[in-house]
Amino acid sequence: MKPLESTKKLKEILKNYYQELYEASKDDDQKVAWCSSIGPAEILVAAGFKVYFPENHGALIGVRRLATKYITRANSLGYSPDICSYLTSDIGAYLLKETPLKDAYGIPEIPKPDILVYSTNQCRELQDWFSFYSREFNVPSIGIFYPWKVDEIKKEHFDVIISQFKSLIKKLEEIIGKKFDYDKFKEVIKLSKEASILWRKFLESARNIPSPITFFDGTIQMAPIVMMRGLKSAKDYYEILLKEVEDRVKNNISAIKNEKIRFYWEGMPVWGKLRFFAELFESVNSNVVASTYCNSWIIDELSEDEPFESMAECYLKIFINRSENIKEKELLNMIQEYKVDAIIFHDAKTCPYNTNTRFGMPERMREKYGIKTLVIYGDLNDLRCFSEEQTKTLIETFAQSFEK
Ligand code: SF4
Repeated sequence: MKPLESTKKLKEILKNYYQELYEASKDDDQKVAWCSSIGPAEILVAAGFKVYFPENHGALIGVRRLATKYITRANSLGYSPDICSYLTSDIGAYLLKETPLKDAYGIPEIPKPDILVYSTNQCRELQDWFSFYSREFNVPSIGIFYPWKVDEIKKEHFDVIISQFKSLIKKLEEIIGKKFDYDKFKEVIKLSKEASILWRKFLESARNIPSPITFFDGTIQMAPIVMMRGLKSAKDYYEILLKEVEDRVKNNISAIKNEKIRFYWEGMPVWGKLRFFAELFESVNSNVVASTYCNSWIIDELSEDEPFESMAECYLKIFINRSENIKEKELLNMIQEYKVDAIIFHDAKTCPYNTNTRFGMPERMREKYGIKTLVIYGDLNDLRCFSEEQTKTLIETFAQSFEK
């Protein structure tokens, strides 16, 4: 796999981001908000908070393969091994007073929050996860409750979301001690949209054959669009990244040596096995060119002219929050646009919400649309649910079925 040069710059901006967050958590004049990964970050940034994302901390624990130890600690407090392993990894690390942020970015501890803000557009776990920290730090935990698993989006769906955004703003004003600046809000929305447009273009570069990037590049490069929405640093970084990828396209540079099969990845990454998967797919001359996961942060329909409405719509209509019917159509669309040969579904043991194998979808994609599918079993963080040997055999055998 050909590494992207821009990643060096990415490490720098992530380090700055975390150091600023940590300094803010130690400074009485600054405030820190924790936010769920697809929560209303733009409102928090516009209100003047530094924003921290516990899910990213969970993923970092996964990447560093520290999860088993931490999950066990959270289990002993009554958090089940069957619930989200981001949650159990993160809470376990907190209980053991450890964090991978120390080695990665020089931050000795997670930044303490002044408020916790989550959305229910993903799952129910975040509410319980943030409730734990609300009790620990004695700070408010506020949820934005969305209509769930929506089929057709209707205008009236937005009203209930927008009224919650406005109540949230009142609470933020109390904490930060100043009025919400609506002009700043529009600027933040614009920056978030611009970063998202660049993120989309980066992902869409994989429509080229051969693709200049892989899904595994996406899992690394997605950090700014998750954690820095509304900050100029995200937009600036994606300009650099996109330029590198456009140069690859111009020069017909492929991300892998010999791209013969193009896969789509449906579901969560297995964070502790990114390299294993990248090498395995390349070894069978295949590239994973697109994914639901990386696409979930394309929110480029934000509009500074209608900041509340457009935020409500973008965050309501994310893939994870749609009906099976809409999900099937979106998958079909992706398969056609990226000229994909088959879908790999990851059944992640502890995240039923980002797992789309359990209600017959792989079978329907095969029967209704003639798309080849393969289901592999694992987890986002809990590597006890994952077998390298079984997965290797499944993928190698599946790849052989494409040989002519
Ligand atoms: S969507 Fe899944 S992985 Fe993400 S926080 Fe919820 S349960 Fe955990």
